[in-house]
Amino acid sequence: MPEYHYQERQVPQDETSEFRIGEGKISGYASVLLGGLSLLAVLAYLFPAYLTTTELRQLYDAEYLQKILKYGMYFSLFFGVVTFYLKKFRRMGFLGVMLTGIAFLLGGYSIPVGPVEAKRLSLGVDWLILAFLGSVAIFVTLEKLIPKYKNQVILRKEWGLDLFYFCFNHLAISAILIYANYHVTHFDWAISETVQASIRSIPTLLQFALIIICADFVLYWEHRLYHEIKFLWPIHAVHHSVETMDWLAGSRGHFIQTFSERAMVMVPLYLLGVGEAALNLYVAFAALQAVLIHCNTKLPFGPLKYIFVTPRFHHWHHSSEKPAIDTNYSAHLLLFDWLFGTLHFPKDHWPATYGTTRKLPQTYLGQTLYPITVFRRQQEPEKREP
Ligand SMILES: [Zn+2]
Ligand SMILES: [Zn+2]
Repeated sequence: MPEYHYQERQVPQDETSEFRIGEGKISGYASVLLGGLSLLAVLAYLFPAYLTTTELRQLYDAEYLQKILKYGMYFSLFFGVVTFYLKKFRRMGFLGVMLTGIAFLLGGYSIPVGPVEAKRLSLGVDWLILAFLGSVAIFVTLEKLIPKYKNQVILRKEWGLDLFYFCFNHLAISAILIYANYHVTHFDWAISETVQASIRSIPTLLQFALIIICADFVLYWEHRLYHEIKFLWPIHAVHHSVETMDWLAGSRGHFIQTFSERAMVMVPLYLLGVGEAALNLYVAFAALQAVLIHCNTKLPFGPLKYIFVTPRFHHWHHSSEKPAIDTNYSAHLLLFDWLFGTLHFPKDHWPATYGTTRKLPQTYLGQTLYPITVFRRQQEPEKREP
């Protein structure tokens, strides 16, 4: 095979989408963002049974978070005022102040917090807000401090679409958990009390390592089937349609994939029966790694890059360049790609292009219906040349 000629990705400067100090754009966006999040938080305090997640509520102190909400609301107003002073983005400032105003009218940061009736199905508004703030704090900071492509902007092409996916995935958390918990009950026959007891007797870190390996084995094959089975590919193609890699890019995925992935990864966790500490470690590790590997960052990982899936490794999975197609399926470790012969990790090179070879629709609805569109196209009788 002739040697492949790797090229450097070109990211030209995008002055219209950049954030520059002194224009009012930063304060405008900050005001709208904080105002929107504050309003969502106030709604979650008003209707906790419907808008918060039972599993997550046990992990945070709702009264303490109200103090943070207070700062969020005042900062939204502050940034709104700054925007008026800087003139150019006044409409955004106005919107931010409006959103916060509604949040104040609905009760603001002083809604009494009491016991919450646990509803089976609810929207994870609390999960959405906390995950969004956490992601921005960790990953956007990382992308700004150690970027791979310095010229790449936060508001890149299709950022709104991916933000929508981010919101959907987080709001649907309880539906995903209900489905995943139901799915694993089909594997009850495979549970062994003795195996579970011996696994729980080993140190937490070893249990953690064991989950990573078992979960990655399942994720590897699930991912590979999505690529190699013809009728599954259009579902997974949605995740691959993103052409700019950053912290938000990994959120894009067809809901069938989101549900099936979580349900499948639950199987090894359920069968291993690891202790709670190891399980929590894994959930945190998996959530952070899933975002990190899509990030626009050249953070050096040293020898760890040969063990764990890192941004450069997963960026290759998203490349539309020939040698990288259908490679690097692993989610956590390089192990299974190496073992099953699907590794593509050229030394020091990064991909030059991302995305699918055939373009997908650029709307949420178009992408959700894409598998049906492809199926219909295949059913059509072949058009003959006249
Ligand atoms: Zn893939
Ligand atoms: Zn990905």
